[in-house]
Amino acid sequence: MRDNMTIQAGLVSRSKPPIKWLGTKGRLNPSMWYNDNDFVFFLLILQILKVMIMKKPWAVLSAAAALSLVLSACGAKSAAPGQPSATVSPSSATATAEATLPPATPSPTIVPSPTPSPSPSPEVTADYRVNQNYDVVPIKEDGDKKVILLTFDDGPKAEETLLPILDTLDKHKAKAIFFVNGYRIKEKPELLKLIHERGQIIGNHSYDHIHLSEESNNSIDYQIDTVQKQVEELTGSAPVFMRPPNGLSNEYLREKLKKEGILRMNWSNGSLDWTMKFSTPNKPEKVIQNVMDQLHSGSNILMHELAWTGEALDSLLTQLEQKGYSFLDPNRIETLKPEAAK
Ligand SMILES: [Zn+2]
Repeated sequence: MRDNMTIQAGLVSRSKPPIKWLGTKGRLNPSMWYNDNDFVFFLLILQILKVMIMKKPWAVLSAAAALSLVLSACGAKSAAPGQPSATVSPSSATATAEATLPPATPSPTIVPSPTPSPSPSPEVTADYRVNQNYDVVPIKEDGDKKVILLTFDDGPKAEETLLPILDTLDKHKAKAIFFVNGYRIKEKPELLKLIHERGQIIGNHSYDHIHLSEESNNSIDYQIDTVQKQVEELTGSAPVFMRPPNGLSNEYLREKLKKEGILRMNWSNGSLDWTMKFSTPNKPEKVIQNVMDQLHSGSNILMHELAWTGEALDSLLTQLEQKGYSFLDPNRIETLKPEAAK
């Protein structure tokens, strides 16, 4: 209400607390006129005196009406509920009166305009898990079983092979896990960022793409931890999925991943795209055929960042959709909690 009043008066600064004017000795102190209703009051008095002298009764009436408006407005101000009226002794200076005024409390009659709250980012519920066969299955019995998990290993290699895959995934509104190698990230960090920026999910595939089952514990630590750090530095978050090269792991690796809250997964549907060479004829058709031959609900499809896989992808995804499958957002897969956080 105070703000409303200051707008009407047009003279009072918003930051200045209201000054009680009746009985305030400093009212006629010119130093405060430019900041106070008193100046308006003073002008009105002058106006009334002037017109009375000029003997124009109608002008006297209108000036008096204006004065009564100002008075009633200030009366409302001082009567605002919850705002204790400051008792200013006639002898106290205005500056003192201002200083002793309690801070204005908001009037309960003001309805605060609703503050637009940021819309919560859509939380993805983890309603799927990876089973012993590395299929993705709904946690709830009545969940949709006809889903496919798409994965692309061994990148990031090159824009020419990566971009067609990203574009096709976008076209089908599909998300996949890209299991990446550290030595490739080192060569093409910008491509790792691109995968992340395009909304795809990044998984750890070891630094050197070696058989981890044959490595020492220290070497396994290095192979996993380095990639976790690289990805975190480039994208802001470390992978929660890991796929050992060639699906080979040992007890130490399994325990380490579990302890660190990283979900290990192999695959359950191999496209065999990695067995094909540049000289192999009809590669895209073969990629599709291999996947369709092994197709089942929850298929965890292993593909690679290869030119022919990129070529096959649009047709493959279309055929899967036509058979009633949808592509599972990897964010919906239940992951592990690091043991330290348990
Ligand atoms: Zn691999």
